[in-house]
Amino acid sequence: MNLPEMFGENVFNDSVQKDTLPSEVYKALRATIESGKQLDVNIAGAVASAMKKWAISKGATHYTHWFQPLTGLAAEKHDSFIEPEGDKVIMRLTGKSLIIGESDASSFPSGGSRATYMARGYTAWDPTSPAFVKEGTLYIPTVFVSYTGETLDKKAPLLRSMTALDKQAKRILKLFGIECKKVSTTVGPEQEYFLIDEEEYLKRKDLMLTGRTLFGAPVTRGQELEDHYFGTIKPKIGEFMRDLDKELWSYGVLSKTKHNEVAPAQHEMAPVFSTSNVAVDGNMLTMELMKKVAHKHGLACLLHEKPFRGINGSGKHNNWSMSTDSGLNLLNTGDSPEENTLFKLVLAAVVKAVDEYQGVMRASIASAGNDHRLGADEAPPAIMSVYLGDQLGALVDSIVKGENYKSVKAEEGGIGVPESPIFPKDATDRNRTSPFAFTGNKFEFRMLGSQANVSDANICLNTIVADAFSDFADELEGKKDIEKAANAVIARELKKHYRIIFNLDGYGPEWEVEAARRGLLNNKNTADAVPVLYQDKNIDVFVRQGVYTRAEAIARADIRLENYTKIINIEALTMIEMAKRDIIPAVSDFVAELCRNVTSKRAVSERVPCNAEIKLIDKLSQLNDNASAAVEKLESDLKSVDRREVLSASQSMAHLIVPDMEAVRAIVDEMETLTSADYWPYPTYFDLLYSVK
Ligand code: ADP
Ligand code: MG
Repeated sequence: MNLPEMFGENVFNDSVQKDTLPSEVYKALRATIESGKQLDVNIAGAVASAMKKWAISKGATHYTHWFQPLTGLAAEKHDSFIEPEGDKVIMRLTGKSLIIGESDASSFPSGGSRATYMARGYTAWDPTSPAFVKEGTLYIPTVFVSYTGETLDKKAPLLRSMTALDKQAKRILKLFGIECKKVSTTVGPEQEYFLIDEEEYLKRKDLMLTGRTLFGAPVTRGQELEDHYFGTIKPKIGEFMRDLDKELWSYGVLSKTKHNEVAPAQHEMAPVFSTSNVAVDGNMLTMELMKKVAHKHGLACLLHEKPFRGINGSGKHNNWSMSTDSGLNLLNTGDSPEENTLFKLVLAAVVKAVDEYQGVMRASIASAGNDHRLGADEAPPAIMSVYLGDQLGALVDSIVKGENYKSVKAEEGGIGVPESPIFPKDATDRNRTSPFAFTGNKFEFRMLGSQANVSDANICLNTIVADAFSDFADELEGKKDIEKAANAVIARELKKHYRIIFNLDGYGPEWEVEAARRGLLNNKNTADAVPVLYQDKNIDVFVRQGVYTRAEAIARADIRLENYTKIINIEALTMIEMAKRDIIPAVSDFVAELCRNVTSKRAVSERVPCNAEIKLIDKLSQLNDNASAAVEKLESDLKSVDRREVLSASQSMAHLIVPDMEAVRAIVDEMETLTSADYWPYPTYFDLLYSVK
């Protein structure tokens, strides 16, 4: 394999565009991609024709407008290129069908923002994310909007948030005499996942229907030996990873790092970062290909945030920054951050944004699956805070306290190994417990769930930071001594929002108490986290920055709660079915066998000891009765939830149904440890986690 040659071979990327498009058309298209200039519709025909020709040479017969409706998943509908001509067909892609497609929108969630009789939805080409050919189809990335112009997807608001940030960041740069064409936000999403044997997977209804195990006693060897993290990769997993890389590279996804994660059967892939919308598309493709490639290897890829209780779940670290087209990273500290007023102002804006909109950030990553991670001592807590590390932490402390800054510069120093060349030590240590950590020249937002579409988190980040920039620019534009005025703003804002900065261990109860004292939000589940999105202040920021209309913002909140409610409902129903149809009968059968054994023994002689059996019969019979009662309670409580009203329904799910499910699970998991393996109806955690060679 010649990697540089095959990289991006399925993508209609810059070099293909250059080779295949007339030079005028190429220039116009690049202007749109690089500086956000609106695309001239007249060039669409030429682009479409070149794109089609190239796609056909790659074996494509169809094209699709690829979009991301509010389900968070990718959606596609394939049309072939054929057009009848006499009794033959020709292959055609017109400029119009490249630019716009029509799609029935009524079956996608809209959060009530669009009545279903107004079913018309339009997909519109996003020329800033490159098209690609996959399995005989040309994929054209698009945004999805309604007939009346409301956005029905995650992509359009993401692009709007990038535009908002571009506009406001340029105002900030201008204060310091820096002019540029465009400020882009960049994202590098690190993806965690599990791989298990597909045959075992297919025996678990819960994994198939809900993505996670609803039952399962803990395995005797979990992750306590800490030997899986960065451990040797098993041959079968290695083959999967090689295959996945090849696929990802062919689609231009910059897959860079792969390793085993903390939990048994858990792994991670990190790409090199790219512009936000390209990174989002790349991550959607990554998740899809992980599942497909796994299947080819007889594996099942689990992207759920918490497939197994008792061992780590999966997240997605969203590395985020902002850069100008000339390559200036706005989060680059430079050698002396204390003298870098631009950097300090940018930092103050981020700190202000995260503090003021901590609830929105928490809500932007809230989901039923992610509720299992946040606050469970493996992922960051549910409390939003900012980690700056020693160097920046000390700088901010000195600004807030009005003291002189003593530089904590990265030291040149050996590592104590004589053979090793001297290397500069990092200025910050790693802090895995922080939800939002400064890591050199970027922030790492670590609260995202592994199955999440990363658009939501980035829409939020871009918007709130753009808003803070806009406030600062309003205040500073026209000031004579920018350095002085900016430093005053920096000190004032860092003081005001100092409470959000937390440089210590985020695990453990002390931080919860301290965070409460500071007045920080601590919403532990989706039902409690999302309602902040209905507050005027949290809607207005999106409206002000032109990212959502009021109706669009409310629709997003409705859909998030609706989705949460639906997921808990499906989980509860699956649990009820598994317990009633498989588990309770299996335990009963095992008890019956024990009873028969006792009878046979007694037939031999009354004196043969049967204590083991009798104890088990007693214990399991009682537990099975308890299980049956707990399932009945879950069933009747579930019936009592009125799912038409999202706010109250989601509350009932979080505070009534989830605890009911916990109760059922506790009993069943105990029965699993007492029931003969021959009778237990499902593969155990051992079978699921340790069967891949
Ligand atoms: P770490 O070792 O701290 O995790 P890395 O440099 O390995 O940091 O990067 C981790 C992730 O962050 C990678 O996906 C990388 O591409 C991404 N990243 C690096 N720089 C940026 C940036 N400027 N903007 C967004 N993501 C970035
Ligand atoms: Mg990381």
